[in-house]
Amino acid sequence: MYDIRGLNEECGIFGVWNHERASELTYIALHSLQHRGQEGAGIVCSNNDYLFGARGMGLLTEALTNDQLVSLRDFPHAIGHVRYATTGGSELSNVQPFLFKGHKGDLGLAHNGNLVNAISIRDALEDDGAIFQTSSDSEVLAHLIRKNKSRDRKQRIKTALKQLKGAFAYVILDEDSLTIAMDDHGVRPLMLGEVDGSYCVASETCAFTAIGAEYIRDVEPGELITLSDAGIDFDRYTDKEQPNMCSMEYIYFTRADSEFRHSSVYSIRKSLGRALAEETEVDADIVIGVPDSSLAAAKGFSEATGIKQEQGLLKNRYVGRTFTASGQEARERAVRMKLSPVRDVVEGKRIFVVDDSIVRGTTSRFIVKALRRAGAKEVHMGVSSPPLKNPCYYGIDVSTHAEIIASRKSNEEIRREIDADSLTYLSVGRMHDVYHSFGSRGQCDACFTGNYPIDIEEQLLPQEKDLKTKGV
Ligand code: AMP
Ligand code: SF4
Repeated sequence: MYDIRGLNEECGIFGVWNHERASELTYIALHSLQHRGQEGAGIVCSNNDYLFGARGMGLLTEALTNDQLVSLRDFPHAIGHVRYATTGGSELSNVQPFLFKGHKGDLGLAHNGNLVNAISIRDALEDDGAIFQTSSDSEVLAHLIRKNKSRDRKQRIKTALKQLKGAFAYVILDEDSLTIAMDDHGVRPLMLGEVDGSYCVASETCAFTAIGAEYIRDVEPGELITLSDAGIDFDRYTDKEQPNMCSMEYIYFTRADSEFRHSSVYSIRKSLGRALAEETEVDADIVIGVPDSSLAAAKGFSEATGIKQEQGLLKNRYVGRTFTASGQEARERAVRMKLSPVRDVVEGKRIFVVDDSIVRGTTSRFIVKALRRAGAKEVHMGVSSPPLKNPCYYGIDVSTHAEIIASRKSNEEIRREIDADSLTYLSVGRMHDVYHSFGSRGQCDACFTGNYPIDIEEQLLPQEKDLKTKGV
């Protein structure tokens, strides 16, 4: 979801139908999805009669109090959400799941992804008299469902979903059912599982491990699954299907112990590291992965080259994500607080550092400097993804062109700017080879290639135009 005023977000969602510990399972699942959102969290439950929810700001443990959790205990159906807002102000009203009350029944809703036509739908709905409770793009679906006159609940949801463009994984709860919907490009991950005979759904399979659920399969693009007391119903809201799973989920965002199509992200990242090794000519004494997200790629690189992998950088686990710090000075301070070289490991060595991506260049610049200060003889950088050149409009925050270093500079200019002895990126072709070898049906690579699989509405772009005209 994104804030209609320009706040960009990544999120994690979960849902379970008919389990005596529904809210407890949701809490545990959200905890394991915490890396997908640290700004707010919530749970909405149903007892076949009405919906009830709690939500709050911050990490899950801060967002929901014990008393709130106790009040959710007796409900057998639940959905949950963790939210990650990366810039600007934040407010409780935007924390999901949203809960709408009405004389026709209640509706709970949680969304992961970004809609690219939310502004025009919202404008049209407002012109028609609708009053929005939040500034989030996700709310438009609730209005579209409510506005539909069909008596058939599933038909109402189908018609509403057909009007949306963009990336969405939705869980929708009412008194009688939990509906799971995936956009026809399948950009964001969504997995189906089973726990103690009840069905559940989560953004990542690490949530299933945490609650003791069995991972069944990935939800497919365009799919519409309904859980109710009648069982599970598999359907589609559209015949269209063009799989474009987000490549950044594989590279950076998803937890390494999660799985896509029954292959672990750890193995996929290791293969990306192996592929990088095939495209690298540099010799080195040791390989260092940037903890934690690049350790698997570094392992693959090490196995393919025979160069020993060492733990030359340590990560302070008590520092939040550096990427989210606002202002360049704050970001640099955050990276310094987060990463630290191990002198005995790096002194006098030719080092090959593997990182999963370079966005602004802050992290690589710091790493090269810190390793040299700790006595490294040479520092080579290898990136287990292609040069990241374009912003994402589908739910991952990779900023504007103005801030993305590879959109302005050549590889050689970047190498000079981060002061590395060499800089190697993985090619787009090899990246796709790796995904195909793990059963991918098609990936989005727009932030690398600029080929956006879903057209972007003009209104989503002004922030960037403003920045450019101001010469940022
Ligand atoms: P930068 O320091 O701006 O070049 O950012 C690169 C670092 O941020 C890498 O170490 C990545 O692991 C991490 N990263 C890449 N994409 C994202 C993202 N969308 N959100 C947060 N961190 C990211
Ligand atoms: Fe993922 Fe990049 Fe596509 Fe966004 S543009 S969905 S980050 S691959």
